[in-house]
Amino acid sequence: MARRPNILILGGTRLAREFADELANVLDASIVYSLAGITKTPKLPHSVSVRYGGFGGQDAFGDFLQKTRFDAVVDATHPFARQMSETAIEACKAVDCPYLSLVPQPWEPQPGDHWLKVATLEDAVTNLPSGSRVLLAIGRKQAEVFFVRNDCWFLVRSIEALEYGNPACNWHNLTDWPGQSTEDEIKLLQSHGINLIVSKNSGALVSYRKIEAAREIGIPVLMIERPQIPYPNQLFTVNDAITWSKDQVSF
Ligand code: NAP
Repeated sequence: MARRPNILILGGTRLAREFADELANVLDASIVYSLAGITKTPKLPHSVSVRYGGFGGQDAFGDFLQKTRFDAVVDATHPFARQMSETAIEACKAVDCPYLSLVPQPWEPQPGDHWLKVATLEDAVTNLPSGSRVLLAIGRKQAEVFFVRNDCWFLVRSIEALEYGNPACNWHNLTDWPGQSTEDEIKLLQSHGINLIVSKNSGALVSYRKIEAAREIGIPVLMIERPQIPYPNQLFTVNDAITWSKDQVSF
């Protein structure tokens, strides 16, 4: 009798949850959904096992894959989770486990968008025009690289509060998820007099409403481009990732 396949999903995104739920629906497999364990109240997929915490680097990740005899790894971490993706790519190569990166397609500027594309967070810091009133929508972990810009005003929106509170009077932390509609995002921008958004090009639908809002009210976006990661294999939709996963476990 064929053994039940084991699939590891590296998660932490909405696309990862959607993929996990759909995979559990269509494939009789043991599915483990892995989270770094940083978010205190993460949203979880419904019918798969969840594990928390880092693996301890490439060798330890390779050992973890071999011990549980994972048949495939679907890396659906955020496209800016560089360390985890690089570790997974190398470890999968070392232990000969099939690897797939699943991320949303990056956003492309549309007519009416005013984007200044920058390669890194540090470039975003240097390219902020003095006097800007900024919606900083890059998550809480990396917000502090903007501390040096005390000539700007920041509304930092993050799902969990900044660990250091409001570090100065030009910093305000809004603990919230991205707005549910473009109108909600326009209201937020206008009520704080925001005249620039700093965003990562995550490609996620849920984060796109602020980009639409910026277009509607004609404010620029400093768009941080994705890190260059040497993915051996990448797909952009749940359906394609399901097909790939089924192919890996058709023993
Ligand atoms: P990172 O810098 O690539 O990872 C740092 C370390 O955290 C990794 O080396 C690994 O520890 C551990 N880790 C990361 N993702 C993990 C996962 N899914 N399961 C188990 N361990 C994991 O990642 P990050 O940017 O801090 O992101 C952490 C998590 O938040 C990821 O799950 C990501 O999908 C999610 N997220 C990130 C962003 C972002 O902008 N970066 C935005 C939204 C959500 P070891 O080396 O010990 O294995």
